[in-house]
Amino acid sequence: MSGRAWERVRPADSEMTGEMTGTDLGKLTEDWKGIESIVPHGAGIVGRICRALFKKADLEIPFVIDRDENKHGTAWMGAPVIPFEQAKAQIGGRKIVVMAGHDAYGKISSFLDGQGLVEFKDYCNVGQFMSEWFWDAKRMNCVFHVDMTITTRCTLRCRHCNLFIPYHKENADFAFDDLKESIDLFFDRIDFVAYFGLIGGETFLHPELGKYITYLGENYGDKIGRITVVTNGTVRPSETLLKAIKKYDMYLSISDYTDVVPYKDKMDFLIDMVKEYDIDYARNDHIVWTDFGFPERPYERTPEELEYHLASCRPNWNALHGGRFYYCNVSWCAQQSGRYKLQPQDYIDLGEVDPADREACREIVRLSRGTSSFCKICGGCGKDNTDYVKTAEQIA
Ligand code: SF4
Ligand code: SF4
Repeated sequence: MSGRAWERVRPADSEMTGEMTGTDLGKLTEDWKGIESIVPHGAGIVGRICRALFKKADLEIPFVIDRDENKHGTAWMGAPVIPFEQAKAQIGGRKIVVMAGHDAYGKISSFLDGQGLVEFKDYCNVGQFMSEWFWDAKRMNCVFHVDMTITTRCTLRCRHCNLFIPYHKENADFAFDDLKESIDLFFDRIDFVAYFGLIGGETFLHPELGKYITYLGENYGDKIGRITVVTNGTVRPSETLLKAIKKYDMYLSISDYTDVVPYKDKMDFLIDMVKEYDIDYARNDHIVWTDFGFPERPYERTPEELEYHLASCRPNWNALHGGRFYYCNVSWCAQQSGRYKLQPQDYIDLGEVDPADREACREIVRLSRGTSSFCKICGGCGKDNTDYVKTAEQIA
């Protein structure tokens, strides 16, 4: 499906540029405007994160659909959680908002299609809903997922790291004062973000991680659904750090590569600590990786393959860095590696956007649902990429 470039000649780093195409805003049908009632689908983690936003929506929620039997009989924002079979007769033309991550959305979407429902007319994912409906109804500029890389230093050297960390010409911690400015610029212009990720490299290597956590928690907690700190579990966090993560109700996303790299003792210690501090966490093992190609084997695609690729890979992992907002954090990392040059359309200089001009701020939301010139040569994480690779294989 995707044109892999194993056998092709890799262009010089300076030649690796492309062009950006449009945004996926404007997909909801006209009749989403003016709705007074919705049916959320999914009372899990994404639903929990989005509760703060839905409180601002003033929409009637008669019930919530979830396939998980364990959730049936419980409530989400006061509404009963019921299976689709029970809900079907009661939906009554209401729009369904699917509160699920990238992968789960694909499966739910196929199911709803099979029920004769039509995406963007009868249902949509919560990212689309946030970006479009909240603007139309509330004049709120909302973004689904923003990552901020606080360090490109890492304890591991994963050959297929999708942030290309082992291939960066220089690795560095980013100073709190610099990134604080980006955070302020962003939240002066954006009303709500469902996910805000502090990521690396290995975040626990950054001596100022505690400052980032405190600053976000103190100043922007009400504008963020959930702040996540991502770690590979190789570095022991201090008790002060763990207390701060707990205090601001942050989520620890732990990538577990102990099947491949021998650091089980450290991982077990971290898990014991997060349990002791009662921190909400996920231990992500057996993560499936695909080859992103860059920088050694950038993909080449025909126009048809590129079109399919752009439609397939829509993780909407936006990035915030250096006073700029980028469509994809992967593309920011490619540029940061010193081996790819992004195009001006791939980012927005936040300082150039008047925060009082809501229409101007809307450009940030448009880019959040856009694409990047880097997509052209990036393997990505869509269903078109079936180039599976060994997770966390290390470079000697
Ligand atoms: S641990 Fe994560 S950031 Fe570090 S090299 Fe591996 S994939 Fe990249
Ligand atoms: S193809 Fe790569 S750069 Fe484009 S959205 Fe997917 S991960 Fe991001």
